[in-house]
Amino acid sequence: MARRHLIIGGGTAGMNAMRTIREEETERSTITLVSAEKPYSRMVLPYYLDRSIAESHVFTATARVLADWGVTTHLGKRATALDTKTNVCTLDDGTAVEYDDCLIATGSSAVRAPVPGADGPGVHSFWTLEQARGVLAQIRPGSHVVMVGAGFIAFTILNSILSLGAKLTIVEVAPRILPRMIDDTGAALVQTWLEKNGVAVRTGAKLTRIDEVKGRRRLKMAAGGDLVADVVIMATGIRTNLAWLNGSEVKINQGVVVDDHLRSSVPNVYAAGDVAEGRDLISQTNAVHAIEPTAQEHGRIVGANMAGKDVRYRGSLIINIVEVCHLDVASFGAWDDAKAETMSGVKADRPAYRKLLWRGDRLTGAIILGPSTDIWTTNDVGMLKGLVQSGVSLGAWKAHLKKNPFDIKPAFIATKTTSTLLPETILGRPSKAPGESPVAV
Ligand SMILES: Cc1cc2nc3c(=O)[nH]c(=O)nc-3n(C[C@H](O)[C@H](O)[C@H](O)COP(=O)(O)OP(=O)(O)OC[C@H]3O[C@@H](n4cnc5c(N)ncnc54)[C@H](O)[C@@H]3O)c2cc1C
Repeated sequence: MARRHLIIGGGTAGMNAMRTIREEETERSTITLVSAEKPYSRMVLPYYLDRSIAESHVFTATARVLADWGVTTHLGKRATALDTKTNVCTLDDGTAVEYDDCLIATGSSAVRAPVPGADGPGVHSFWTLEQARGVLAQIRPGSHVVMVGAGFIAFTILNSILSLGAKLTIVEVAPRILPRMIDDTGAALVQTWLEKNGVAVRTGAKLTRIDEVKGRRRLKMAAGGDLVADVVIMATGIRTNLAWLNGSEVKINQGVVVDDHLRSSVPNVYAAGDVAEGRDLISQTNAVHAIEPTAQEHGRIVGANMAGKDVRYRGSLIINIVEVCHLDVASFGAWDDAKAETMSGVKADRPAYRKLLWRGDRLTGAIILGPSTDIWTTNDVGMLKGLVQSGVSLGAWKAHLKKNPFDIKPAFIATKTTSTLLPETILGRPSKAPGESPVAV
C-alpha cells in the first residue's frame, strides 16, 4: 500500500481526497499537499461578492484543520513538473517532493476573450478569490458592469452584481444566452425574464477591443453600438490547469484521461475534478465535467483508492443549476442529445418550461425553468435530477409525462426513485463525521 500520498491542488477534489484517505486507510500514511492557493470553495464566491458571507467563510480548511489531519503543506507554491519514472514532483521554488502515489487536482483557470485591451485595468475574470476581491473592490452602486459571456459562471454571479446596486449588460457572441446549458426555447424565456428585471442582453454580439476612455472602459462591438462600462467581467470560459504536465508520461486529451478508478495512464498517478477526463454517467464515455459535484465525487473515489480500497466510479452526471432574479434554471445529463426522443411543455406567461429527453423509457436528460416562488419548480428540479441520475425505468409513466410534462411528481413517487437514490452513496457506505475538525467541502 502507498505510504506517501501527494495531493496537488487544494480545491474541492483535493480536499475530499485527503479527508477520504484519512477515513479509509487502515495504517497511517503521510499526506503532502501542494497548492497554489489556500484551500477554499470557488462555488461560494458569488456569496462573498454580494457580501452575504465574510471572506473567512470561503475557506474549506484552516492551517489547524490540515495539521489535525496530519497533512504537510506547501501552500502558495505550484507544481511545475512531474517525473513519473522517479516519482518526484518539482515545485516552483525548486523543492522536490517524493511520493508513492499522487493526485493531480489542479482545477481550471479563467480564459479571457483574445481581444486587445482584455488584460487592461478595470477588466476582470471571476474564478479565483483574488479575482473576486478585485471585482468587489470596483463595483459601486450605480456602476455599469458589462459581463462578456453568458455561460453558467456568468449566471452564478449575476444576482450578486445586481444586489450591489450595479447596472448590468450581458454580451454574448453566440446567438443565445447559456449556450452550453439550455436550448433555444429556454434561452429565449430566460432572456425575456432578465430584460424584465432590468438586465440588458445582447446576443450574437462580438467584442473586438476594449479601450480606456477617461477612466472608463469602451467596448467596441463588431456590429457597432459600443458600450461604456465602469467594470468589465470576462466570463469567457475556462481552461484546465495541465500545462505544467507537459513532457510527463501522463496521457492528456481534454483533461487527464482516467479509468473507472480515476487512475491515469500512469498507475500510481490519479486525477480528479475539473482536470480529469472521466466517465460520464449517461453516455459512459469520457468527458471533462468542470462542476462541483464531479469534483466532490472524484475526490471521494480517489481518496478511497489511494487508501488501498478498490472502488469503481459509476460516472458523473452533468448538473447545471442557477437562479437568476428568482427564476430557477437547470439542466441535467444529456440535455442536448439530438438523437434522444424529446417531449416538452411551455407556459410562456409564467414563464415555465420542461423538456424531457428519453432513451427508451428512461430519462437521460432534462431542462427545467420556472419562478423560484412556484414551489413545484424547486421540487421538479430535484425530482428531474433524481430521475435522470437513477436511470429508473418509467414504464407507463412515459405516456403520462408526454401528455403532462409538468406533472413530474406522481411519476417520481410511483417509481420509488427516492428509495432507489437514498441508500446510494458514492463510497457505498454512510458518511462519517469528520471528527473534531469539521470542514465544509
Ligand atoms: C464563481 C464560481 C461559481 C461556481 N458555481 C458553481 C455551481 O454553482 N455549481 C457547480 O457545480 N460548480 C460551480 N463552480 C465550479 C466549481 O467551483 C469547480 O468545478 C470546482 O471548484 C472544481 O474543483 P477542483 O478541485 O477540480 O478545482 P479547484 O477548486 O479549481 O482547485 C484547484 C486547486 O489547484 C491549485 N493549483 C492550480 N494549479 C496548480 C499547480 N500547478 N500546482 C499546485 N496547485 C495548483 C489551485 O490554486 C486550486 O487550489 C463555480 C466556480 C466559480 C468560479
